[in-house]
Amino acid sequence: MKIAVLAGDGIGPEVTHEAIGILRAVADLGGYDFRFQQLLIGGIAITETGSPLPRATLDACLESDAVLLGAVGDNKFNSLSPDKRPEAGLLQIRQALGGYANLRPSVAYKSLSINSPLRAEVTEGADILFVRELLGGLYFGQPRQWDRETGEAWNTMRYTRDEVVRVARVAFDLAAKRRKKVTSVDKANVLEVSQLWRAAVTEVGAEYPGVTLEHQLVDSMAMHIMNTPRNFDVVLTENLFGDILSDEAAVITGSLGMLPSATIGGAVNLYEPVHGSAPDIAGTGKANPLGAILTAAMLLRHSAKLEQDAAAIEASVIKVLDAGYRTADLARGNQPGQQTVTTREMARLVHNALNESIDRSQSMHAV
Ligand code: NAD
Repeated sequence: MKIAVLAGDGIGPEVTHEAIGILRAVADLGGYDFRFQQLLIGGIAITETGSPLPRATLDACLESDAVLLGAVGDNKFNSLSPDKRPEAGLLQIRQALGGYANLRPSVAYKSLSINSPLRAEVTEGADILFVRELLGGLYFGQPRQWDRETGEAWNTMRYTRDEVVRVARVAFDLAAKRRKKVTSVDKANVLEVSQLWRAAVTEVGAEYPGVTLEHQLVDSMAMHIMNTPRNFDVVLTENLFGDILSDEAAVITGSLGMLPSATIGGAVNLYEPVHGSAPDIAGTGKANPLGAILTAAMLLRHSAKLEQDAAAIEASVIKVLDAGYRTADLARGNQPGQQTVTTREMARLVHNALNESIDRSQSMHAV
């Protein structure tokens, strides 16, 4: 498997290095052939080539089997116009790869329950996978304009049936492998676009008799996610609603450094932790590598189709957290048995836990 690695800026290279380490470990243990190609994006790419997304990076990404991205953003470019800043490279690569389904898990880790502003009994057991439509809706619909003369501005929320059907299939396929429930979020009591959305999703749902489909209005969904997050498995939403709800649901996990994401369905799938380049902690060893490591697990699941290895990484992360190890962002005062570790140490702990779990499963096979 050819994996293009776009480490980027700030903590991007630090956490990506650890994610690659875990992927190499999986490859060694499982006998897989993963080839990594390091490419420039963001501020570092501007410094070295003048462009936030050099042609060579784009071409190599399009020829790879998956793209693993760190983060982009560097304060020294803040004075540039938006189209020249490091973040422009990110938007360009997302667009060029053309993924239409953005997957964002929101998981409550038992040992991190104190990190969430929600009470532990509310979050316990929550494991939501957001499937957000990424190429349509209000963010892309035409016409759009701010007419400064008339003092009027407008955007267009627009979807075609086919755009809804393709992302709905992603959600149902994923739900079929999970707890077999899709919650589709819309605003069908007010918006025609949502009525089309609901009809198309219902149509796709009929192809999956083993998966339960429920519809929720976005306003009440915002409340249900906070009140009863356990009730949800796969949450399917359009672009704007998904943007808002997936950020809201991130409080279930409790730290930005823990959140992975994947964007699938396009020419090449793109995997990136949710966090940014965190210039405030870059180079200090304080970056939490778990978001990037869990992103690597998503790459194994969705591109390499190595479900067992993906699950083994996720289980190893839980094991290390349960043992009390915390990067600085996760550490909370007065917690017994807690030990603060660096980026490197956290990754090594996950690596060790992974080795142990794979050793154990291999010896079980031998028996
Ligand atoms: P950020 O995500 O970089 O940081 C927000 C806060 O969370 C900071 O205090 C940071 O230290 C902390 N944090 C983030 N990731 C962490 C991790 N893995 N471990 C520990 N702590 C972590 O967001 P920001 O500060 O708003 O933006 C910084 C730069 O990153 C900006 O240039 C922004 O444009 C860019 N950005 C990039 C992406 C991306 O590449 N996908 C996403 C968001 C922001």
